[in-house]
Amino acid sequence: MICDYCGNEITYKEIRSSISLKYKPVICKDCGTNYIPTFISKMLVSIFFLVPIFFIANKSSSTLIFIISFSIYLLMAFFFTPYIIKYKIG
Ligand SMILES: [Zn+2]
Repeated sequence: MICDYCGNEITYKEIRSSISLKYKPVICKDCGTNYIPTFISKMLVSIFFLVPIFFIANKSSSTLIFIISFSIYLLMAFFFTPYIIKYKIG
């Protein structure tokens, strides 16, 4: 993500850690602008997390398969959320 004010690049890592801390605002290191996730993108992330969980739970024939697919899914979701989430100046 590029800062709207100064053009500094806000890295994937910074966004990742902001999401891990319950959507803490991302702050541009160069100009100090605060970015907060938009409501819509937080909704999208929730859907992205929840829908496949129900799907996996329904389709899995055994607990082990469920746990394995669930773990793989969570890992993928963890890495992809920074690409889904959109920020606005807060
Ligand atoms: Zn900036």
